[in-house]
Amino acid sequence: MIKLHDLYFKPFIPEAEVDSIVQNLVNEIANDLGEEIPVFVGILNGSFMFVSDFVKKYPKPCEVTFIKLASYEGLKSSEDIQRLIGITQDLTDRTVVILEDIIDSGKTLAEVYRIFKNEKVKALKIATLFFKPDAYKKDFKLHYIGKEIPNKFIIGYGLDYDGLGRDLPEIYQLKTTQHMTNIV
Ligand code: 5GP
Repeated sequence: MIKLHDLYFKPFIPEAEVDSIVQNLVNEIANDLGEEIPVFVGILNGSFMFVSDFVKKYPKPCEVTFIKLASYEGLKSSEDIQRLIGITQDLTDRTVVILEDIIDSGKTLAEVYRIFKNEKVKALKIATLFFKPDAYKKDFKLHYIGKEIPNKFIIGYGLDYDGLGRDLPEIYQLKTTQHMTNIV
């Protein structure tokens, strides 16, 4: 169990399992894309560790870039998605694969689709390491899902709670107590 700021988190997904979830995503995507040279687009900040491990495992040539969006404030997904760094290269006729750390309500994903609406990409695919089906409120298709998880707040492997926890190599889940049930 670890304490970050005022909250306790319990071990949830060990490092070896995270590694095999990433490897499975790599296998599935590499298999689907064949000899296509994709552009992987990581969504900062949460995806930095996932993207780094993903492209190291990717067995074929690929490009990697990032966009930076922010929606979470503490434990809650906020309505207001801010675009802090957008697309900085020409993606015309390219196959783009978005690499998300986690998809919760889908609001961030809606913003991603808005960003790409005017780009003339050949194909836009969505890959997410973690997915909370019970929190998802959109209809966008998710092409590649690493692991479905319950609708509870997690940290580690790039995901933070108020700035802390991104550096942890494994995933922890918020330990709920009765008085906390209103926030998870
Ligand atoms: P959405 O826009 O789908 O509600 O949330 C997507 C973003 O919110 C993710 O990219 C991530 O930054 C953040 N997020 C969603 N769920 C969690 C969670 O359980 N833990 C953490 N640390 N961040 C989350």
